[in-house]
Amino acid sequence: MERKTELIPLPFRQGQGGGTIREDFPILEKKIYKKYPLVYLDNGATTQKPRSVVDAMTYEYYNENANVHRGVHFLSQQATELHEASRETVRRFLNARSSREIVFTRGTTESINLVASCYGEEFMKEGDEVILSEMEHHSNIVSWQLLQARKGIRLRVIPITDEGELRLDEYEKLFSERTRIVSVTHVSNVLGTVNPMKEIIRIAHEHQVPVLVDGAQSTPHFAVDVQELDCDFFAFSGHKIYGPTGIGVLYGKETWLDRIPPYMGGGEMIQNVSFEKTTFNELPYKFEAGTPDYVATTGLAKALDYVTSIGMNTIEAYEQELTQYAIRRLNGIEGMHIFGPKENHDAVISFLVRQPGVDSSEGDFQHFIHHLDMGTLLDRLGIAVRTGHHCAEPLMRRLKVEGTVRVSLALYNTREEVDALVSAIERVRQMF
Ligand code: PLP
Repeated sequence: MERKTELIPLPFRQGQGGGTIREDFPILEKKIYKKYPLVYLDNGATTQKPRSVVDAMTYEYYNENANVHRGVHFLSQQATELHEASRETVRRFLNARSSREIVFTRGTTESINLVASCYGEEFMKEGDEVILSEMEHHSNIVSWQLLQARKGIRLRVIPITDEGELRLDEYEKLFSERTRIVSVTHVSNVLGTVNPMKEIIRIAHEHQVPVLVDGAQSTPHFAVDVQELDCDFFAFSGHKIYGPTGIGVLYGKETWLDRIPPYMGGGEMIQNVSFEKTTFNELPYKFEAGTPDYVATTGLAKALDYVTSIGMNTIEAYEQELTQYAIRRLNGIEGMHIFGPKENHDAVISFLVRQPGVDSSEGDFQHFIHHLDMGTLLDRLGIAVRTGHHCAEPLMRRLKVEGTVRVSLALYNTREEVDALVSAIERVRQMF
């Protein structure tokens, strides 16, 4: 009996609402252009939301809404308790030592900007260096360029191999007495590369340099333990892990958060204010100016409860199998070129397809179907993929392409959806 349950693919196992996991996500029932069943393969951009997340947020607005941290009245205290319980859920999810290390932000972008701005303010001066990589999302490049414009810091960049993996040999060579921080993505949002984060952090710490991990694309797909990683900062977004938009997290070791100045000024982040002198609140409130999105933190906690109840290891195993299946099937299409490593591939697959009847040499993508054409035509068949530079223009330049088509999978995607994608790509190819 138990064995039979194991054979049921994850999306069709029992969900929270009496049906299957797929049925927990009402949008998946949608017909596109009133005709095609939605095949949603743009999860790297944002994931769909289970009922439990949306219901909890609606319930809170209708029944429990009050501003947090400030009120003596019943509703405010209840809202505060809920908000702080959500922080504890995030702490548990990341296995942080203390909830003082969990700062709520609007998302990965804001978390990275916070570190670049505040850590940069305190610990970096003209000529100091940050180490990034060639596969970073713009949020982990431009935040540092803003600091560069303000303070004259330098950006050092870890190159990647043709396979799309970080060159650790070159990484080691980038350290100098001016290196102040390393800021690298855990998983590439274009190539699906899973970077050897523990090794990257170990090497940085040998040089007494802290590390910020961009976890936007890792947290939805496998278990993250910030203590085991030993990272100094870790950023992720709620909306990429089945939670609401506009909420994210910055984890920071207490020792660092204590030493860096606040990001924004306002209510909540202060202890005492006078026109002469203001003192700041304790962690993590020092970094949370203004009314937090306390309803979104409830939604985020529900989303984390949702994935935790399935099990991050179960999600990882299922998605890995589905990704390998997708890569195998896609590789069966004539003229298919998949970017990124063969091994160590997360649930993100970027590709281009050569036009039929033309030859081209390796690395020349001139005669490939334009990513925008492919994306638009797939959409006409109900298949949602992402096209373009994926907020990683330097990486596009390295790959010598203007953009790619990106398929990114989630726990509710199925082999049948992958098959539908493959058939649709074949159909598009025939049009050229
Ligand atoms: N970093 C990576 C690797 C991403 O994939 C993304 C979003 O696609 C971000 C950062 C930015 O996330 P957000 O827009 O949620 O702040």
